[in-house]
Amino acid sequence: MARQRALIIGGSVGGLFAANMLRSIGWDAIVFERNAEELSGRGAGISTHPQLHDVTKRLGIPFDNSMGIPIDTVIFLDHDSRAYDRRDTVRLMSSWGRVFASLRERMPEGSYRLGKSLVSVEQDESGITAIFSDGSRERGDLLIGADGGRSTVRELFLPGQQPQYAGYVAWRAMLDERDVKPDIHEQLFANYTYCLPPGELFLAYPVPGRNNETQPGQRAYNIVWYRPTTPEKLADFCTDASGKCHGTSIPPTLLRPDVIAWAKAQARELVAPQVAWIFERDPRPFFQAIFDFISPRTVFGRVALLGDAAFLARPHPGAGTTKCAMDAEHLADSIAALGIEAGLAKYQREQGAFGAGLVRQGQRDGSYITDQLKPREQRRNKDVSWAVDDLMRDHDGRSVQVQRILEESRRTG
Ligand SMILES: Cc1cc2nc3c(=O)[nH]c(=O)nc-3n(C[C@H](O)[C@H](O)[C@H](O)COP(=O)(O)OP(=O)(O)OC[C@H]3O[C@@H](n4cnc5c(N)ncnc54)[C@H](O)[C@@H]3O)c2cc1C
Repeated sequence: MARQRALIIGGSVGGLFAANMLRSIGWDAIVFERNAEELSGRGAGISTHPQLHDVTKRLGIPFDNSMGIPIDTVIFLDHDSRAYDRRDTVRLMSSWGRVFASLRERMPEGSYRLGKSLVSVEQDESGITAIFSDGSRERGDLLIGADGGRSTVRELFLPGQQPQYAGYVAWRAMLDERDVKPDIHEQLFANYTYCLPPGELFLAYPVPGRNNETQPGQRAYNIVWYRPTTPEKLADFCTDASGKCHGTSIPPTLLRPDVIAWAKAQARELVAPQVAWIFERDPRPFFQAIFDFISPRTVFGRVALLGDAAFLARPHPGAGTTKCAMDAEHLADSIAALGIEAGLAKYQREQGAFGAGLVRQGQRDGSYITDQLKPREQRRNKDVSWAVDDLMRDHDGRSVQVQRILEESRRTG
């Protein structure tokens, strides 16, 4: 019998987990990515969870120290460079690029196609057809929309349902380890670092280098800085030098020099000089606006949404990549056990409850920041500074939270 064939739209981590998991149950799986060039070097650091390590192991990718940088100490720095608190932890900091590369290299020749932008879908009882902007068509048994928070696939089936802006952005910066001066290197590289300017959250930690190196000397240093930002200010940040507003995101290359200069001046003013020094050295810091989205449905006949296309959670649980892996595993296992129709129904029910649970957790974790946008008397969190104990409990309890949300979704979904 011919192998069943999945058409996977989106070639980032969600699409690659889906393709690798479906291949592991005997399907043929082809990924279609709209970018014409290989996705690489996005550089962004990510936290990882044991649930992610379990899925990658199942695919034959051991999540050992070649996948990230182990960290055992957390420090809190004040504006005078002083480490005013220090805690033990166990964290493995990886990067989008490292996880992506480990999945991408497993895809056989010809099964990952670049420059393919999906525009529409046709389905009937015997299969599904994907139609691309270049006019080409592909036929398969199942189509997976792993095309991110602004999913085209979702828009085809749930027109007009869009992620909601949460009221803050994450500024991101990165510097190669070899460019960090020795005294700063000594203070930062062994630790996960927090700065807590009033109403904001600044995180910094070492990650694999731009070509995924994990050896000392070749790593990189990654910054994520959450800052309340009004919709008007976001629109200004997203307006390029020619006056064109790009919506709620802008390609980093088009970010105006005055916006970059302002962000660097803010770093000097608000965070510890060691990390401000690193932020300033990145020639191209960029920002990502933070959104929430809970999809009311994730299955439409032979179509399933997965990863950020299905549920867009704020990054605080640090589980976006983990959710991609868990969605892909559940989808493949359900189809292998029950066939396409009943398997997809189970996927929608159970992973839907899981995805919605993660979005709500992200909203709870981020409420400290969104509260700062309200008048003081309406805030739930009256204090402007985050308590170290609360932050440590939330951060180090993340994997337990993810497991709790998973178990709850299996009971209720
Ligand atoms: C500030 C920040 C910090 C984060 N930190 C973490 C963390 O610590 N840990 C973690 O696990 N996660 C983290 N995440 C989340 C994580 O990056 C995402 O959840 C993950 O990348 C989602 O993967 P995806 O494949 O679903 O979507 P995406 O990565 O958005 O990929 C979608 C792909 O689909 C392609 N595409 C779009 N439309 C089409 C089309 N019509 N046709 C063909 N292709 C198309 C796009 O080009 C893109 O390559 C963070 C996110 C942010 C914003």
